Amino acid sequence: MRKAFSVVMSGICMMPLLTACTNHADTMKSADVFAMDTYMNLKAYGRDAEAAVAEAEARIMDLEQVFAVTNETSDIGRINRANGAPVTVSADTVSVLQTARQMAAESGGALCISLYPVLRAWGFTTGEYRIPADNEISNLLKYCDDTKISAADDTVQIPNNYAIDLGAVAKGYTGDAVMEIMREHQISSAIINLGGNVQTLGSKPDGTAWTVGITDPSAPDSLLGTVCVTDCAVITSGNYERYFTGDDGQKYWHILDPETGCPADNGLVSVTVIGSCGARCDALSTALFVEGTERAVQHWRSVGDFEMILVTSDGELLMTDGIAADYTAKKDMPCRVVHHNEEP
Ligand code: ADP
Ligand code: MG
Repeated sequence: MRKAFSVVMSGICMMPLLTACTNHADTMKSADVFAMDTYMNLKAYGRDAEAAVAEAEARIMDLEQVFAVTNETSDIGRINRANGAPVTVSADTVSVLQTARQMAAESGGALCISLYPVLRAWGFTTGEYRIPADNEISNLLKYCDDTKISAADDTVQIPNNYAIDLGAVAKGYTGDAVMEIMREHQISSAIINLGGNVQTLGSKPDGTAWTVGITDPSAPDSLLGTVCVTDCAVITSGNYERYFTGDDGQKYWHILDPETGCPADNGLVSVTVIGSCGARCDALSTALFVEGTERAVQHWRSVGDFEMILVTSDGELLMTDGIAADYTAKKDMPCRVVHHNEEP
């Protein structure tokens, strides 16, 4: 086993840029939360903002308990230890698994939540990083196939030797759950940042759009640009978020290609997805990162219910035509806008 010699994590690098609201009658409530292994911030404006944020915090803590793969008694922990038997779980688990299964199918297997045994072999679950041998990876890949996951009513079943993890979708699902609480409390203006997953409700209290920063993958402390959005999720997957450098000098990151069981290296270093559903955007950002540039563009053209901003490994910015007008560059780099009706 080869040992990693440097590790970098940055879960809070995509900070939303917020303009303070002035002279507004509504209350603003903001809270910082550490959950799901990441820093989160919730901000809501409205008469009931305090109660909404308190309820949202509690919901995040509940979902963390339900989804945590390292907790033996969580839904995911029990599913992974059931040796192939059916397990009774919460409605949240069934719902998030259905989204994941749907995205696994839609992405031709690029999203694969049953890759967990391979992620574990790389040490991405514990931080004890290593580079597994080829035969170790190929043996583990025999137990990775999301079509074998069944999730219906209140029951989930996966085959013996299989294990799943919701790292690619849990934060997006949690963001949707938080926004549901905000709406129940009649909050018309809110922004949340769950470790780089930004979700917005309505517009800023002054009626203008929210400005969300997109991290520069080559300098994660600075911004590549910003997007102006209302009422949607802006969710990024990048190879700079969690990685280690092997003693062969190579960088190994936490998004794996189910075809190879190795870090996905298909021409992209960052994928930002902009759309209405957090869980779907989160699943998509990981899936498109694995798919690589060409497949990602085809995927967007065939579905069309989201926009995306891709950064390629050779330093090009590629964005879909529905977001281009809302993007402001902070860094100079070659940029191409893709349209629905054109050749790739
Ligand atoms: P982040 O959690 O850093 O915001 P992502 O949403 O892209 O980024 O999720 C990455 C996480 O998803 C990994 O840490 C791992 O738990 C899991 N994962 C890695 N590769 C895949 C894959 N191909 N399909 C599904 N889940 C994956
Ligand atoms: Mg994701």
